Amino acid sequence: MQRLARETADALKETGPAGGGPGTLYIVATPIGNLGDLSPRAEKVLSSVAVVAAEDTRHSGRLLQHLGLSKPMIALHEHNERERVDRVLKELQAGKDLALISDAGTPLISDPGYVVVREARAAGIRVSPIPGPCALVTALSAAGLPTDRFLFAGFLPAKRTGRKAALEALKREQATLVFYESPHRILDTLADLVSVLGSERELVLGRELTKTFETFYSGNAGGVLAELEADPHGSKGEFVMVVRGAEVSGRGEAESQLDVDKLLELLLAELPVKKVAKIVAELTGGSKNELYQRALELKDR
Ligand code: SAM
Repeated sequence: MQRLARETADALKETGPAGGGPGTLYIVATPIGNLGDLSPRAEKVLSSVAVVAAEDTRHSGRLLQHLGLSKPMIALHEHNERERVDRVLKELQAGKDLALISDAGTPLISDPGYVVVREARAAGIRVSPIPGPCALVTALSAAGLPTDRFLFAGFLPAKRTGRKAALEALKREQATLVFYESPHRILDTLADLVSVLGSERELVLGRELTKTFETFYSGNAGGVLAELEADPHGSKGEFVMVVRGAEVSGRGEAESQLDVDKLLELLLAELPVKKVAKIVAELTGGSKNELYQRALELKDR
């Protein structure tokens, strides 16, 4: 009896409420390379909706074709999302269910859909996620780096100056960092990562995940860069970079000499050297003796 009630509730969730209300906007994750990763539920929803909104209708048309489906499609990409929102909302308000898909993976994750989802929710339309593949979670799940806290930073800026500034801002972040990168920028980005975060920073690079040539490169950033440069297929395919967060304390990369010096200087203006070294050692986990020596140097400057 309980099972029947649950199944009825699940079925309702998949077809939307009966009656003349607005339709449901389904956010459907699709494979990131391996078609076998399309979930049965995603397939069911794609076959049941009236309209499919897709980033690239030609590309997604092939997925629908593979599933034996033919659906009216709305092209919704980063350059026209705002204009297309009204059309999408109109279809939903007319009672049609609509599925939003992107070229690969989970919509809205470095992909269009944010504006539509936000506006649909504001208009009181039901938005229902159909979870599935996502490159960042796929990489993270197999990277062997801490997953209790991670920061997904999407794509780094395309130009070197902006990219280095973005990395500089993340240098002291302790959570695991996850980035997407394109094949034509991967070597430059890795070189910048080495120069800003240091060649010793642990890195796992996932390439062509779930596809035939799936490869993981792991080690320190300098080593991974060298390995990729030496691999003739190295800069081909799609990449996720998973980077270990900064050290928690001590005299690791997390704690730049500049910050410690600044702290020492500020305290030296108010307190005796010994006391300053004691406080800063407690705050940073650094050695009291070393900090005492450094404080003396700064005081003499
Ligand atoms: N929405 C997608 C998701 O859920 O992962 C991401 C879309 S974003 C425009 C495309 C980027 O995701 C690629 O440049 C690459 O960094 C990453 N990516 C997608 N598929 C991948 C795969 N099979 N292997 C490695 N990275 C992948």
